[in-house]
Amino acid sequence: MVQQTRADSDHTSPGVELASSLLDSLAPYVSMYDTTLRDGAQMVGISLTVGDKLKIARLLTELGADYIEGGWPGSNPKDAEFFLRFQEAMAGAPCNARYGTQKTKLAAFGATRRKYSSCEQDANVKALVDSGADVITLVAKAWDVQVTKVLEASLEENLLMIRETVEYFKALGKEVMLDAEHFFDGYKANSQYALAALRTAAEAGADVVVLCDTNGGSMPWQVEDWTRAAKEVLQDWPHVRIGIHTHNDCDMAVANSLAAVRGGATLIQGCMNGYGERTGNANLVSVIGGLQAKMGYRCIPMESLSRLTEIASEVGEIAGQPMRPSQPFVGSSAFAHKGGIHVAAVRKMPESYNHMDPRSVGNTMRSVVSELSGRGNILDKAEQAGLLLDKDVAGSVLARIKQMENEGCTFENAGASVDMLIMRRDRHYRQPFRVLEFSVISSNRGGARGSDSEDDEVGEASSGHCGDWLDANNSHVNQAIVKLLVGNKVKLSAAEGNGPVDALNKALREPLETEYPQLRQTDLADYRVRLLESDISGRSASDSASTTRVTIDFEDEDGNKWTTVGAHTSIVEASFRALVDGLEFGIINCDDDGCDIN
Ligand SMILES: [Zn+2]
Repeated sequence: MVQQTRADSDHTSPGVELASSLLDSLAPYVSMYDTTLRDGAQMVGISLTVGDKLKIARLLTELGADYIEGGWPGSNPKDAEFFLRFQEAMAGAPCNARYGTQKTKLAAFGATRRKYSSCEQDANVKALVDSGADVITLVAKAWDVQVTKVLEASLEENLLMIRETVEYFKALGKEVMLDAEHFFDGYKANSQYALAALRTAAEAGADVVVLCDTNGGSMPWQVEDWTRAAKEVLQDWPHVRIGIHTHNDCDMAVANSLAAVRGGATLIQGCMNGYGERTGNANLVSVIGGLQAKMGYRCIPMESLSRLTEIASEVGEIAGQPMRPSQPFVGSSAFAHKGGIHVAAVRKMPESYNHMDPRSVGNTMRSVVSELSGRGNILDKAEQAGLLLDKDVAGSVLARIKQMENEGCTFENAGASVDMLIMRRDRHYRQPFRVLEFSVISSNRGGARGSDSEDDEVGEASSGHCGDWLDANNSHVNQAIVKLLVGNKVKLSAAEGNGPVDALNKALREPLETEYPQLRQTDLADYRVRLLESDISGRSASDSASTTRVTIDFEDEDGNKWTTVGAHTSIVEASFRALVDGLEFGIINCDDDGCDIN
């Protein structure tokens, strides 16, 4: 029955490996400057502790980022603490010495000195020194009206602030970058002044000048042209590199970053997964994919490129931002195929609907089963589960899936239910148990609150749930009775739970865990209910006979997850169907050593 999986049959050709190593050694280099911990942390919904920041920094080091911007040490104590703890936390972290750089460098972010003042008197400048960072990134204005109207300083004073602050940090032996804020808007308004800001930084000894599309309103062709203009102005300082820092307000941040490289930039500032204020910063994950997989540049080691999906996802987890399935290159749907025609094609020739080999960024191609599927989706899914189906069986599975989707199930994210549909149609498969019957009693014992109820507070507090009519005497009872055939024995089991689904889960598990102890390492991780707006007969959601779809996530002790679905007019029946699929899947895919989930 078990033949081979796709992974077994795939291999990387020697030609691809040779091309990769040549690219790694000969291609022009673009530095990755990550600002997830500073600009990225300004995204609504992200709040990083110092520990979170250190964990992300460690992952960025493993990825091979050249620079990590740790924060703005002058702005808050958390960032200052991060700088104190960084070196210790990074001890033993891998080195990206392959490209002649030392370990990933830590950059501290801050502003140039205050207007009409001196660096020595400036508390923010002092905080940058105290951070101990080897790289200092200074933000300065490059748009004339921002200087006169927002900063309320003269144009000359702004240039002096740039010159003196850059010189100050160069005298301390620091690597200095100047972030030219609003450079592109400034260039549009007064190109001479925007370029003068860059020239002043170069004259003062800056190592990198970074062109910022602060408002995210520029287009790629403008960014490319104006980066080229900046390069021309800086030709007298050939050691000064040009960097780019873009925001995604027009959904152009990645495109603008790559356009800047075409214009002469050799350093890109951005954030993992495109985090950042408003609509985010340039997504470094996509920037890396574009530069390295599409444009022939190198920025991180090839072995790190193959960890891109894993690292992007780990950063997302730490940041409390679940990965968007459709995220290019690394999302779980980035190489997922749903349409039957597409799946049939990629089974014959993967590049027919994949822009690249997903394995090079650590992702995988997968097919999704739904009512839009063809037999190829089923055959592909079966192969992923290690099965070889004949076409007739695949056809009958597909017909059943289409029928069940019509009845309210949706299978595209419920792979375990699809696996069970396929398994149960395999003539060699022996079901570990069969359900003979089940019943659930869900009741509320106790009187409804009368209009003369004396103590509202007590009733609500003791019920533990919202419900205005409940009173202190209410008690909820949820009992389930399940009759199963396990092997050739009939088993009857009863249990109580916190709700009807919990009671059913317990009643099912009791006899099953005795027979299949591997189930003990599995648990329900999430339970979702959706009332379908209307079913095929056109009943509306307000009709109590509408279909309910229940989706359940199961999880083992190692965090492996599988998802099942059930649909029915009864929420209990829908839940029960999803429960049975999930438990049966757990029995056949788990053993004493853990669960083997595709
Ligand atoms: Zn920014």
